[in-house]
Amino acid sequence: MARRKKLYEGKAKILYEGPEPGTIIQYFKDDATAFNAEKRATIEGKGVLNNRLSEHFMAGLNTIGVPTHFIRRLNMREQLVRAVEIIPLEVVVRNVAAGSISKRLGIEEGTPLPRPIVEFYYKDDALGDPLVSEEHIIAFGWAGQQDLDDMVALALRVNDFMSGLMLGVGIKLVDFKIEIGRVYDGDFTRLIVADEISPDSCRLWDIETGQKLDKDVFRRDLGNLADAYTEVANRLGLMPKNVAHTGPKLVN
Ligand code: UDP
Repeated sequence: MARRKKLYEGKAKILYEGPEPGTIIQYFKDDATAFNAEKRATIEGKGVLNNRLSEHFMAGLNTIGVPTHFIRRLNMREQLVRAVEIIPLEVVVRNVAAGSISKRLGIEEGTPLPRPIVEFYYKDDALGDPLVSEEHIIAFGWAGQQDLDDMVALALRVNDFMSGLMLGVGIKLVDFKIEIGRVYDGDFTRLIVADEISPDSCRLWDIETGQKLDKDVFRRDLGNLADAYTEVANRLGLMPKNVAHTGPKLVN
């Protein structure tokens, strides 16, 4: 059996060379990290849940014409994706104030924002992923003006899709982070949604109770993270049903 070529190992995923050129296998680990990896744990089943949830979100986006890297899920922990050149920015969309925007601007968590706000963070662990402006992005050449416009448009479409999907199962999409990659199609380059979309990278609050169903459960020690993610998957109809026993019946 040949050993697969590992391309990259991150905090929550491993990337392996895919079966064809231009493809990558994305493996979801059970590891959870927060606060720039200062807090770490292994949460059994998290990788399986995120693989399935990210598949669901990305496949849905593909269906409505928002391009993503997702090709197909291969097994419980792996999915086949298109290789992209990752833009070194985390694109965050916020609908409701929480986390860093609440701290930075003194807005109470839970305050609805006047409109969705798109922010960019420069991906650099050593610097703690600092917030950057469009000026920085253009001046330092991390992306061009057209890329920026395309990234904002993509992020807002993802926001609309994800907000609607979540609303349908009684969950408020507070904010989320996506990563965007460049692909080359002949003479053209295009930007597509890459990485993952999962409760690791979203804030999800139950509409009725405000219960957190995302990685804040881990960051803030609010309970069992896998249970929270399972609840999201359950509501979306992604968990196998407890099928009633259909085997042979005992006849008295
Ligand atoms: N986020 C992420 N990865 C990061 C930073 C943030 O997925 O490295 C997500 C986070 O889960 C939340 C959104 O982006 O859904 C906004 O995060 P925020 O800026 O409030 O940062 P935090 O409170 O996590 O420090």
